[in-house]
Amino acid sequence: MIRQPKAGLERMPGMKPSSSVSSLASTEKQDVTLSSLMHYTQRPSAKTTGPLQQTGRRHDDRLDERQQEMAEADDRLKGPLIPKKKRKKKSLITVNLSGTRYDVIRQMSEKLGYAVAKDDDPNSYLFWNDCFVATDRISEMKSFQRINHFPGMGEITRKDCLARNMAKVQKQLADDFSFAPKTWILPADHSLLLNYAKDLRAKKKTKTFIIKPSNGAQGHGIQLFRNAEKIPQTEHFIVQEYIDKPLLMDGYKFDLRLYVLVTSCDPLRVFLFDDGLVRLSTEKYLAPTEANINHSFMHLTNYSVNKHNEFYEKGESLSSGSKRSVQFFREYLRQNDINDGLLWQNIGDMIVKTLIVSEPHLLHAYRMCRPGAAPGSDSVCFEVLGFDVLIDRKLRPWLLEVNRSPSFGTDERVDYDIKSALIEDTIRLLNIKISDKSRNMAAQKAEARKRLFRQNKRTDGPDITEYEKKRQSIEKRKEELKETLARIRKVSAREDYENRNRGRFRRIFPPDDKIRHERYVQLLSSTFGIFMSGKAPAMQKEIQRVYNNKLKEVDVMDMLAECEADEKEGKYYTGGTGKPRGPKPLYNTTGRFHYNHGKPLLSMPVSVPSPLENDEDEDEEMEDEETESMSASGSPSMARQGYHPGRRPGSSGRPDSRLSNDGTSSTFNSRPNSGVRSRPTSNMSAANQRSRSLSRTGNGKHTPLQRSTVQDDNFLLSVVKEREDELTRKTLVALNEMRIKFPGKSDQEAEYILDKLHENWKFHKPRIASYWLVKLDSIKRRKVIDIVRSNVRAVLLRTWRVSDVDSLKVYRIFNRVFNRLLWSHGQGLWNCFSSSSNATSWEAIFSKSSENICEAELNCCRRIVQLCRDCLLIVYQFAAEAKSSQSNTPHPSSVDEHSSTGQSISARDKSLSLIPPNTQTMSQKYSKLYPATRTPSMGS
Ligand code: ADP
Repeated sequence: MIRQPKAGLERMPGMKPSSSVSSLASTEKQDVTLSSLMHYTQRPSAKTTGPLQQTGRRHDDRLDERQQEMAEADDRLKGPLIPKKKRKKKSLITVNLSGTRYDVIRQMSEKLGYAVAKDDDPNSYLFWNDCFVATDRISEMKSFQRINHFPGMGEITRKDCLARNMAKVQKQLADDFSFAPKTWILPADHSLLLNYAKDLRAKKKTKTFIIKPSNGAQGHGIQLFRNAEKIPQTEHFIVQEYIDKPLLMDGYKFDLRLYVLVTSCDPLRVFLFDDGLVRLSTEKYLAPTEANINHSFMHLTNYSVNKHNEFYEKGESLSSGSKRSVQFFREYLRQNDINDGLLWQNIGDMIVKTLIVSEPHLLHAYRMCRPGAAPGSDSVCFEVLGFDVLIDRKLRPWLLEVNRSPSFGTDERVDYDIKSALIEDTIRLLNIKISDKSRNMAAQKAEARKRLFRQNKRTDGPDITEYEKKRQSIEKRKEELKETLARIRKVSAREDYENRNRGRFRRIFPPDDKIRHERYVQLLSSTFGIFMSGKAPAMQKEIQRVYNNKLKEVDVMDMLAECEADEKEGKYYTGGTGKPRGPKPLYNTTGRFHYNHGKPLLSMPVSVPSPLENDEDEDEEMEDEETESMSASGSPSMARQGYHPGRRPGSSGRPDSRLSNDGTSSTFNSRPNSGVRSRPTSNMSAANQRSRSLSRTGNGKHTPLQRSTVQDDNFLLSVVKEREDELTRKTLVALNEMRIKFPGKSDQEAEYILDKLHENWKFHKPRIASYWLVKLDSIKRRKVIDIVRSNVRAVLLRTWRVSDVDSLKVYRIFNRVFNRLLWSHGQGLWNCFSSSSNATSWEAIFSKSSENICEAELNCCRRIVQLCRDCLLIVYQFAAEAKSSQSNTPHPSSVDEHSSTGQSISARDKSLSLIPPNTQTMSQKYSKLYPATRTPSMGS
């Protein structure tokens, strides 16, 4: 195995020659000259009061020259005479490798000049993790940071999810997605599999099937079957048609491991590495028969399987042994007069299409984790995927699976050569710059200011004048154009960088070929239609805008100039004098709006907030500030007194329902926040800290002008904070008033249904668990949560009167809760039905977070959790009723307390029976805030 020489620390850019005391001591001992001593003794120093400062006047006869030299050298070692040259902290791009076991990642990071951070350093620029990363972690990343996994990628990297998603697209787009072998998910598709086998028998055909664990890897648990009827109905397995005529190399079956880098999903950007591994089996291939189907060295090509065969050959070059390079394979094809270019193109096409299938999931999950991130902004996530591809004798590529954590082990030379180049090119393509951190802080500061001024801005309402409306519409248009312009510039700068630094990667999406590009955009549109249904039209529009945008920079600049001209000419004024006539605007009278006439393109955007001049100094300051804000946050205040999860508001005994409508605790805490440690509430307090920190001058003192600006800022920030607190309380009131609607039923009836479910919880619990955790796929689970989410958004829009809810701190917090509820395939929400402390386990997301959360915000979150629980129950009941009315047989969920005595009722009767006997009483019951009813619990 050949390794590149280690890039030692001393060769890392930014490292200075050692200047520690010990090194100084060693040189001084050897070489203390008189002239050097003179230099120090003659230097006047305000600090030194010792005898040596009186140079020239002082001659101590008791010391001979040698002693004096030694004394002075000693002083130098102690260092009191030399004013320490302020050592500038040299910033380095740091990488946190605590999550990876692969040394090649460290080697390549160091080769590129990155410094490996301590394991617990949360402020690194780059994180590399072998395992999948929780969505929470991605939510908490700062926008200058990068991590090597996307949320939602499991939709193509788990074998069962890939199969389910492929089956969905194959239904509508069979030709485009025929590269995925026919697959059945067990146990759900077992009868379909048997039908298929029956058809084969009728046609007198035999096929071989391969079964694999849904979440397996490295060939574990794989078996071949010649007869589908013999396949056991095992859970968590998939069955696939076996590709029994693979292309062979020297008589051996092989597959390709190809590496694909996804640098962003919003928008999608995909690169294919021009090399990879060819993994050969170690027993000559024969068509499967009953006699050989157990020969794993013949049918499986995994390295982890074949390395155990005595015939496994370690490759000492790229073109021999049981593992070879893809470049060698392509050369081999060419030597055999096979068009490797076409095959390579087909493989690229297959990879892009697979990622097109993943894109609706990726985009949705990413936006949930990073709400408020401007589309097109640098992605905090990237991912190196390992695609396993089998090629058949007709040179058709087949997708076997996608690995989200491909091995970066470098056991053999071929591994090292390929993987080191892959990692190096990957890290370089990410284009991480030392200034990203300061740029990020500057952007946050700008955002805080924007929010500060936006608070009082109203864009509609009866009291807005015509003049103001027109002015606002031009402002809005200008803003949009500026954003478009910034985006266009950013895309072209990114492309430019990628073209210069892509190394051995080739961009496969978006492709350069126009026809191919159009086809892919169509496919993207279709997959959004397939997976997103309700949201699809909006997403499809966005896809067209993002991927088919033909606007050039100059076009946008022209439009912006037109806008400026309109503004200049006062087109929206009632007169053309440049000053508005008529009533004064009701808002924005604080001088925020200026009449900028006569200057061309006043509002030309700065495409990115400019990095601060001295990155190094700024970085030091940021670090201080981060520590400052972190120590200020600690663990969040959570008023647990009186809060018992697992109970619905509107039902009695529900502790959260003891919170009064404005978010204060009415029973347990007579005063708001009593007994609860209060902490800084909003991100305005963080902004406050930021602005304080950023306005610090070199010596830490402010000029009078700066002081007053800081005071003004602080005053404004505290006003905004108060306002935000008030709006959060109003949000809670609105959330508490919110009810989940049951189609065709009144609120009282819906409440009654919920009560019935709770009463009969023991019976419903396993059914609801199976419905939520098993029957619904991730998209459908998301849809259930989205019912609440969209209503919460509407509440925020109404209450906060903003046009962009995503940028609100409260919404970011809520989104983390929604994400948490969807965590682990829906386990997050299911835990909330528990009677144990598990029910509040979701609150832990805030205890780990550096974001402060106040009591009212936490109560909003609790209410949201409650609404999501109700929503699941209502959806479950609705689905059950729909199913039983279809089949005309009573669904188990129609069983209420009477059913335990053997009386089952028809769906129709049941829906009637669900109407509470005394609606008046029910309405009274639910109009009371905290009535006493039962609580469902998983523990029962
Ligand atoms: P794992 O994740 O456990 O490695 P794979 O799906 O990659 O599972 O399958 C392991 C090996 O089995 C592949 O490398 C390939 O050689 C073989 N294999 C898997 N699926 C098929 C198939 N449908 N047809 C032929 N061979 C297959």
